[in-house]
Amino acid sequence: MESLTVPYIKGDGVGPEVTSSMMRVIDAAVEKAYGGPRHIDWLEVPAGGSAFEKYGSYMPDATVDAFRKYGLGIKGPLMTPVGGGIRSLNVYLRQTLDLYVCLRPVRWFKGVESPVKHPENVDMVVFRENTEDIYAGIEWEAGTPEAEKFYGFLRDAMGVTKVRFPETSAFGVKPVSREGTERLVRAACRYALDHNRPSVTLVHKGNIMKFTEGGFKKWGYELAQREFGDAIASGKLVIKDCICDAFLQNALLKPEDYSVIATLNLNGDYVSDMLAAQVGGIGISPGANINYDSGLAIFEATHGTAPDIAGKDVVNPCSNLLSGVMLLEHIGWNEAAGLIYDALERSFAEGCATADLARLMPNGKAMGTREFTNHLIGLL
Ligand code: NAD
Repeated sequence: MESLTVPYIKGDGVGPEVTSSMMRVIDAAVEKAYGGPRHIDWLEVPAGGSAFEKYGSYMPDATVDAFRKYGLGIKGPLMTPVGGGIRSLNVYLRQTLDLYVCLRPVRWFKGVESPVKHPENVDMVVFRENTEDIYAGIEWEAGTPEAEKFYGFLRDAMGVTKVRFPETSAFGVKPVSREGTERLVRAACRYALDHNRPSVTLVHKGNIMKFTEGGFKKWGYELAQREFGDAIASGKLVIKDCICDAFLQNALLKPEDYSVIATLNLNGDYVSDMLAAQVGGIGISPGANINYDSGLAIFEATHGTAPDIAGKDVVNPCSNLLSGVMLLEHIGWNEAAGLIYDALERSFAEGCATADLARLMPNGKAMGTREFTNHLIGLL
């Protein structure tokens, strides 16, 4: 018996509904694919609102320790605590565990309505840097002594004269390092080679932010040449770059030109959501946060807690389910993952989906979360 322990965070709001759906479909697919010898032992670990009520902490240390111990995990959406302490539980997990890649695969499922004519041409995997950039959280509010002090440093010590309205400016700092860039681009190149993907595109705004985003481009190319030179020389891997605004246009006009995308934190945030919308799948797009050096990976639904529909049996469980499928692929249980992709494809092709997707399908049949989950299990 090959069993694997997977710690999971149920999540807040719609979290318990999507988590239960995900676990039922995955258990059924694993059973169907391997008929017994493989099995997942789900280990619930506390986080979010319910953890705060019970343990007085939104993210107990024991939860973080469990992810470290088992080397992987999956989480439903978590509410963002209001008032002091942790800014965002997701950011806290990413930083504490140094999960430096936010991985977002984007593909289209036949039957899902899309705003573009050929969503089938969108098949990309985004590697978004997770720990640096303007997202590092180093900023000061306008009008505070800290903002004034920071401006004073810029003006007096650095000779900066370009701040247009210094009295009323807020300030943020954008750290981008060679190490941070290299580990991200290395992971993207390895992924491309392991998954027979033809290219890695470095997406940046180096034309304007020459040292930060320009550094990302320069260090990215250098790393690729140094560590993947043979694959590049043999034509197995193409490294290219694109300025982010041009990329956003090109990804709409000729998405087939792109495969693996490596980009900085802020660009990656915009790029991932735009691409997901392009395949009609913002509500069904999965994600993972991964440290490719330690191997630690936490898979997650990319939507929030959707408090407006929590407990109503209408939430679309696919984002969390597909993040579970990414987990299966991560551990090499590809047969079970394949069964779930097939079941989703067949379900969408016959118009069977939760209301958010079904109402946009010409042949749509809206199902509740539980009914849809049962339907998928029946299609495995
Ligand atoms: P949200 O994603 O929860 O909801 C936005 C809208 O989309 C709502 O109308 C909701 O009903 C709908 N929606 C979202 N997911 C859906 C699904 N799977 N099926 C059907 N409809 C769905 O975003 P929000 O309202 O801005 O945030 C609510 C809370 O979630 C906040 O506390 C926010 O900080 C948190 N949040 C958490 C995560 C995360 O844990 N990864 C991500 C985003 C937001």
